[in-house]
Amino acid sequence: MADLRMTERAAQLAEQVLAGDLRLGARLIRDLDDQTALAERVLKALWPHTGLAFILGVTGNPGAGKSTVVDSLIAYYRKLGKRVGVVAIDPSSPFSGGAILGDRIRMQRHALDEGVFIRSLASRGHLGGLSRSTGEIVAVLDAMGFEIVIIETVGVGQGEVDVVALADTKVVVTVPGLGDEVQAIKAGILEIADVLVVNKADREGADRTVRDLLTMLELRHAEAPLGPDFPSSEVEIIRTVAVRGEGIGELATAIQRHQEKTANLAPIRRARRARRELRDALLDRCAQLVDRVLSENTQWVDQVQRREIDPYSVSDRLLQELLQSATSGNAPYPRSA
Ligand code: GDP
Repeated sequence: MADLRMTERAAQLAEQVLAGDLRLGARLIRDLDDQTALAERVLKALWPHTGLAFILGVTGNPGAGKSTVVDSLIAYYRKLGKRVGVVAIDPSSPFSGGAILGDRIRMQRHALDEGVFIRSLASRGHLGGLSRSTGEIVAVLDAMGFEIVIIETVGVGQGEVDVVALADTKVVVTVPGLGDEVQAIKAGILEIADVLVVNKADREGADRTVRDLLTMLELRHAEAPLGPDFPSSEVEIIRTVAVRGEGIGELATAIQRHQEKTANLAPIRRARRARRELRDALLDRCAQLVDRVLSENTQWVDQVQRREIDPYSVSDRLLQELLQSATSGNAPYPRSA
């Protein structure tokens, strides 16, 4: 009975979110992060209404000007009448206990615009992982009718690269300098770039950075599994002075061109994303199940600790038991959707 009430309540909330209630949308995002049962029901109800947004990934080193670029892109898309959602992944330490307000403050000029919705997400400390948390926020924004959802992230760590790798178009922002920045992006994010931005082109050394990037593009591995859609020769390098909004129109055009040139790959991108979404959800449930099993079977932990048995044999045995109870109908997890 309580279950039925929760389903009804979830359907009601989902309807309000679909109607564009920003306050409820924001609350849903918070509740999803806390993994409340109601929030999950709402997300289930929203799911059929997702998959429409264009997802843009913007990655680059701290200080490269990502927020400024994103801020200018928001202004550009707003002029075209498009609603823009942003998930800014914040590389704050796990000890700060959550996202800092930085991104929101920087993008404050859009604060009163109902067509813009910005959420910061700390890059660590997520139940179920960064990828799942980001995916959930994107899904909510998508369901709320934001046509463009930008995922902004510092491209450090595999988790972050994974998150941005699933965007429809991936923009990597760098700046002129001594080559450090370029060296740093070499580590992985250059491999996923569909469009490269040399921001702060008002500074000296922009030409050299463009040349360096061209050289690196020649070396990159186009066959990376979640890698670029393009052969390197097709990647456009755009110069911007984001603080003055210069080059932003060109960047938007390059993004559009990437979409047009790779339109035939859209189904593959969607399939990859669906696989990731399912994998994230499945792994999350598995992790919860494992934790439950372990807390209910502390004798195994004790035996492993006393070195009476190894963890691998215990795992095999527990898995076998779980599978058996699943097929016998006493499923510890749902057997079908
Ligand atoms: P993020 O950490 O990558 O998000 O970088 P921010 O967008 O916060 O920008 C870092 C600093 O660079 C800020 O002080 C910006 O005002 C400045 N900045 C951004 N774009 C430009 C630009 O095109 N030229 C110059 N000179 N400074 C810029």
